[in-house]
Amino acid sequence: MSDKFNRFKEIIGEVSDLGRAASVLGWDQQVNMPPGGGEARGQQLATLSKIAQEKFTSDEVGRLLEDLKKEYPDSETDEGAMIRVAARNYDKAKRVPPEFVAEQAIAATKAFEAWVEARQKSDFSIFQSALEKNVELVKKYISFFPPADHPYDVLLDDYEPGMKTAEVQEIFGNLRPKQVSLIKAISEARQVKDDFLHKKYNEQKVWAFGEKIISKFGYDFSRGRQDKAPHPFETTFSVNDVRITNRFEPGSPLATLFSAMHESGHAMYEQGINPAYERTPLEGGTSLAVHESQSRMWENLVGRSLPFWEHFFPELKKTFPSQLDGVSIKTFYKGINKVEPSFIRVNADEATYNMHIMLRLELEIGMVDGGIAIKDLPEIWNEKMREYLGITPPNDAQGVLQDIHWSYGSIGYFSTYALGNIVSAQLWERINKDIKNLDEQIRKGQFSELREWLREKVHKYGHKYDPQDLVQKVTGSKIDSAAYVRYLTKKYGDVYGL
Ligand code: MG
Repeated sequence: MSDKFNRFKEIIGEVSDLGRAASVLGWDQQVNMPPGGGEARGQQLATLSKIAQEKFTSDEVGRLLEDLKKEYPDSETDEGAMIRVAARNYDKAKRVPPEFVAEQAIAATKAFEAWVEARQKSDFSIFQSALEKNVELVKKYISFFPPADHPYDVLLDDYEPGMKTAEVQEIFGNLRPKQVSLIKAISEARQVKDDFLHKKYNEQKVWAFGEKIISKFGYDFSRGRQDKAPHPFETTFSVNDVRITNRFEPGSPLATLFSAMHESGHAMYEQGINPAYERTPLEGGTSLAVHESQSRMWENLVGRSLPFWEHFFPELKKTFPSQLDGVSIKTFYKGINKVEPSFIRVNADEATYNMHIMLRLELEIGMVDGGIAIKDLPEIWNEKMREYLGITPPNDAQGVLQDIHWSYGSIGYFSTYALGNIVSAQLWERINKDIKNLDEQIRKGQFSELREWLREKVHKYGHKYDPQDLVQKVTGSKIDSAAYVRYLTKKYGDVYGL
């Protein structure tokens, strides 16, 4: 390796250290920090991010990258891929002036406060002008980049490198009518029971049961831990320290199990990345959608499947005999897969979830290209809810104001959730071709072959391949909803006797 490459790795390693130190502070903020610590923590995080940014966007890094692009032109090699990814990040970072970043951060803080109040009072008009400001800044952000096919491409690229708006629209366009008709068929079928999911369960026992499941999945607790926090999330400090958080909600106590499975899916991805990529631009998962494909797979394709509960249900019943008294495994399986159109995205089931995302994508594109005026958002939101899910939100809090994302100026993020679902089903079809008796293994509580498959085909590559290229490489096609439609149709055919 050349001296220049070594120098590049030295700087980029320090940039990574700063980012991951910030993650430790962020984790602590959610898990341990007393409320009084907020202001100082905000300053500490801003300082770390400023130092990292200055280090990364220095002229020295620019010169090194120019030379190294020539020295390592082949991005199939690890070195070439590191240079390619770093050069892309460098180009983006250089285009956006630091004053703009600061302006956006201030606007986001104000907008967040307005959003909190608006949501409390369920009154969109309180949030409207702050959101207008955020959208204006997002448009300014787009203007720093060369013209794209669609202005929204610039935003999407920050979450799904290389992905185009037109591609997402096509994927969703194919999916939408099929999912709408499936939801309609389910609504006309005999409804399933799930009252046993809302009884009183002992928190410690549920927590321990969740940890038992994810240990069996292969989440390595010697390189991870699970703590309590207001929201479940996964965070990475190094390949050997990948943590998750979880919560317990008395109203839906077993949700803790599914959150543990979800976050462990994210965490196993991070634990499985090639250790040689540590402190380089290839560390971490390749995109939000691919990350979400891993969490959704363990949560839904594994964790809400019948074979899975054929293994775990007897023990669950032994742990909670009174709550599950008289509940058969079939009834339990149907209960955890109950479909019900609902107002709130984060509580949505597998059949309706993507509709919430499609709605948001259409609104975001409209906001960015000017097709939708911000003041009309609540009304358009409600119209689309009626069209897609057949229900009308009773107020703004349960409609347009429910998500935090727009308050901090994040536009372009939402579609990655649905893309993750779609990719999980594509991978699942491929896995079932390669592991013929996967259901049988899951029924026995054996997950190592599945986990190793994911490690070999997806995890170990980290950031080396862009999401579309990785999905193509593993499944033979780009991101496409057909497998997901087959999965949903089969599953809900079973559950609802369609
Ligand atoms: Mg997730």
